[in-house]
Amino acid sequence: MDDEEEGEEYLFKVVIIGDSAVGKSNLLSRYARNEFNTNSKATIGVEFQTQSMEIDGKEVKAQIWDTAGQERFRAVTSAYYRGAVGALIVYDISRSSTFDSVQRWLQELSTHSDTTVAKMLVGNKHDLEEIRAVSVEEGKSLAESEGLFFIETSALDSTNVRTAFEIVIKEIYNSVSRKIL
Ligand code: GDP
Ligand code: MG
Repeated sequence: MDDEEEGEEYLFKVVIIGDSAVGKSNLLSRYARNEFNTNSKATIGVEFQTQSMEIDGKEVKAQIWDTAGQERFRAVTSAYYRGAVGALIVYDISRSSTFDSVQRWLQELSTHSDTTVAKMLVGNKHDLEEIRAVSVEEGKSLAESEGLFFIETSALDSTNVRTAFEIVIKEIYNSVSRKIL
């Protein structure tokens, strides 16, 4: 490997989608800033955060987009999806309606993407075990049938949050590397 290659930089766009109040914004703030908010803020417009991680000694950056409230009106625009190579599709394990919506989100994602997207199905609010409405098996089996990675997370207590993002980013990096090789 020559020096030029080692200095190579990667920047990948990753989107977070899923129904309102499943914890999308908190997953991102937990990952990017280690913050959690109990109040859901209905921010207007789109926000993203850039996060770096090291893979194979290379700096890999992910520009992670948050819908910031557009999903309340089912009005996530095509610009939001444009160029995305990774996606976290989030539901709330305590609300089955949010799990039922996953198919619709997957459809919307595939309608708007013109490339292969590394996808992670995320069952968030793992801490709400007592009022769980979607079993781990249901999550796993949907993920298997749709070809998605699967993980349960808690933005509240941090369980698996970093792992959820990093698996997606590593998968994107690996598929890009496979293309180069
Ligand atoms: P978004 O609309 O999908 O962006 O959801 P938010 O991140 O705004 O979160 C919606 C609500 O769920 C807020 O009141 C959060 O405090 C709460 N929340 C988010 N993640 C978790 C979690 O992992 N566990 C629990 N118990 N609550 C969460
Ligand atoms: Mg939000």
